[in-house]
Amino acid sequence: MTPSFQQKDIKDLTKRQLAQWLEDQGVRAFRATQIFKWIYLRQADDFDAMTDLGKSFRDLLAAHFTINRLAPVTIDISGDGTRKYLFQLADGQYIESVLIPEKNHHTLCVSTQVGCAQGCKFCLTAKGGFKRNLSTGEILAQIRDVKKDLLQPQNLKNIVFMGMGEPLANYNNLLNAIETITDSDNGLKFSTRRVTVSTAGLTPKILELGVATHINLAISLNATDNKTRSLLMPINRTYPMEDLIEACKHYPLLPRRKITFEYVLIKGINDSAEDAGRLVKLLAHVRAKINVIPFNPYPGTDMKRPSDKVISHFLGILLDGGFTAIIRHSKGQDISAACGQLSAHAGQV
Ligand code: SAH
Repeated sequence: MTPSFQQKDIKDLTKRQLAQWLEDQGVRAFRATQIFKWIYLRQADDFDAMTDLGKSFRDLLAAHFTINRLAPVTIDISGDGTRKYLFQLADGQYIESVLIPEKNHHTLCVSTQVGCAQGCKFCLTAKGGFKRNLSTGEILAQIRDVKKDLLQPQNLKNIVFMGMGEPLANYNNLLNAIETITDSDNGLKFSTRRVTVSTAGLTPKILELGVATHINLAISLNATDNKTRSLLMPINRTYPMEDLIEACKHYPLLPRRKITFEYVLIKGINDSAEDAGRLVKLLAHVRAKINVIPFNPYPGTDMKRPSDKVISHFLGILLDGGFTAIIRHSKGQDISAACGQLSAHAGQV
């Protein structure tokens, strides 16, 4: 069928939205579950493959929708097994997704925007500025397409929204994507325990997310006083730290879950023993675990990673303060796939 201008990526719709569209066409809503199974569980690439749907119904779907994939440009494989996918979008823009293999399961780090508007001083993605939000279909395609590329797709168990962009600045598309990612009947079937949204701190959206979903929350804190945080992360001028921490205290966490606080440790900027002590006090009344991420350098930055001694001293203070805390050694550094190193320029890799 020749594409028509009204055609849209069917993955932009949640199952409920698709069911509604079907009803509007006079088709029984339960057909949405069949279509979802074909797209997300059986990886169908066109409607004609959906053999349990009648021919005229398949034609109706094909007249209105496409089932888009992203165009893979390169797949870099790190010495530690990390795989960085560079994808081209239909309008020519580029994004990256990073697959991090672990012993029994893989984690996929997914992008939500082309570029980023947050302007965090330590992050390479910020340097290229903001281009646009990803659609729900483009967010989901990263997961669906990478799964298709894997020899053992069932090993992909964790999704982290820690790629390019600020997830909560693309809230509606993110929420729709999460609905399909965690749809345990016909969608991508990820457990809510294994999906994490990381935010630079768009405070009002944090509580909305907590009410709308049961997924995990990670906060990129990165400093312990407003002056330093505002220098590193301009968003702090709009939503200062005390409001952010207050929102975290009210986040509707399920029993036994914690909010992850990410703290990029940068030499001479936020890595002192005083910082560690302030962090302990700041998070005293939050159900928190802390991931300390030694700064990952990239060409052109003046910032540096602290020495191992400083890093372990910082961690020690958090542990003495009673927190669950780890040093997160970013994988995939040799292929620029680590935290803060994503930039998605074709030809750069
Ligand atoms: N915008 C979201 C999602 C990006 S996640 C957020 O800010 O949380 C990217 C994570 O990598 C964040 O925790 C960020 O603080 C961290 N990061 C960014 N640049 C980094 C760098 N150069 N080295 C180490 N971590 C970095």
